[in-house]
Amino acid sequence: MQAVGLSGPVLIVAGNAAITRLAPTWAAAFAEAGWLHRVRAFGGESSRREIEALAREAAALGAAVIVAAGGGKTLDAARAAAAARRLPFVSCPTVCSTDAPTSALSVIYCDEGPTAGAVESLEIHRRSPDLVLVDTQVIADSPPRFLAAGIGDAMSTFYEARAAVAAGKPNMRGGRSTRAALELARLCRDVVLEHGVAALEASHRHVPDNALEQVVEAATLLSGLGFESAGLAAAHAIHNGLTVVPAMHDALHGEKVAFGTLVQLALEQRAATAAAARVALESEAERVASFFVSTGLPVTLGQLGLPAETEATRVAVQAIAHRATTTGETIHNMPFPVDVAAVVAAIEAADSLGRRTLAAV
Ligand SMILES: [Zn+2]
Repeated sequence: MQAVGLSGPVLIVAGNAAITRLAPTWAAAFAEAGWLHRVRAFGGESSRREIEALAREAAALGAAVIVAAGGGKTLDAARAAAAARRLPFVSCPTVCSTDAPTSALSVIYCDEGPTAGAVESLEIHRRSPDLVLVDTQVIADSPPRFLAAGIGDAMSTFYEARAAVAAGKPNMRGGRSTRAALELARLCRDVVLEHGVAALEASHRHVPDNALEQVVEAATLLSGLGFESAGLAAAHAIHNGLTVVPAMHDALHGEKVAFGTLVQLALEQRAATAAAARVALESEAERVASFFVSTGLPVTLGQLGLPAETEATRVAVQAIAHRATTTGETIHNMPFPVDVAAVVAAIEAADSLGRRTLAAV
């Protein structure tokens, strides 16, 4: 932290598992640096109330920096508290399940009343984290399912960036995308395709090797910079649609985004007018689906918790499509108009591709 010009006092906001594992390391490191530090256990929800409490604690400590160690909600709440206090922020993800650690975004949740647990708003802060620090041994010791989800989230980045750039839509900051952003997103996909399966094996063995290092960089840094600087499109909107289905509440963000990516590729196939483009998109979708199967990511509605061909599933698919196409959703960053009927057909096409791919294994 000294190397990037930061100094104490330090408020560390951390999940309980991170505290148990890392508190002795923090004590030793900050004692050596001569910095006062205080560890605060994260309250469990990235809510307004928790963010205000963290900001108050930072003020009381006279903190010069806020460090967050834990999962997505811990990072989001601490990032928002740092933004409120205009303090530097250090992001230390202990799982590699999304690309959020690198971003300047916080998802804020309600923590009381009938909507408790629901997303209240998405805040984009003034600055990106000052430092993103990932210990790949900590990632190797986290459940492989989280890493697979991170791979799913990372795979969507290029396809969404490609679509948003083709449509000339603004990025997450409201600015124009850059060539660099699209190339980072492409590199992210290529790294994950090349090393994803080996990284998951490393995660099962709890040994961080080169494959895991590469995938952690891709899923955290390249994906985070890629989505923020190039923009999101259909895959994340489909994810948001899937969140309305109670049967899918146990699915992780990256698992739903993986299926959303297949739905986006199906939308692109439907919209392609030239036969050659359709064939190319079809083989691209087949490659992505096979890769998802090899990493254990869901490729069918059934794997996400919706049984095939029931009336309840038909109703759920309609609800997903309505939610995914609401005004302001990133699905409207696709380079062609997308409506409910197109999404329903694309979900069915993605599910059928997923079932064919699973059957071929
Ligand atoms: Zn995501």
